[in-house]
Amino acid sequence: MAYLCPVCDYVYDERFGAPREGFAPGTAWAEIPDDWCCPDCGVREKVDFERKEGASR
Ligand SMILES: [Zn+2]
Repeated sequence: MAYLCPVCDYVYDERFGAPREGFAPGTAWAEIPDDWCCPDCGVREKVDFERKEGASR
């Protein structure tokens, strides 16, 4: 499953993780801290991300 930042279109994909954020490939969305901010725009937190339907089914 992938999750999209509604502001800057940054996508967090569980298959790839976010190595520069310290999340290894395969890190589930549920394991991301609730106070984690979007690494690109920094103005949206985890709760604001939208599930990207159909992206990785
Ligand atoms: Zn963003």
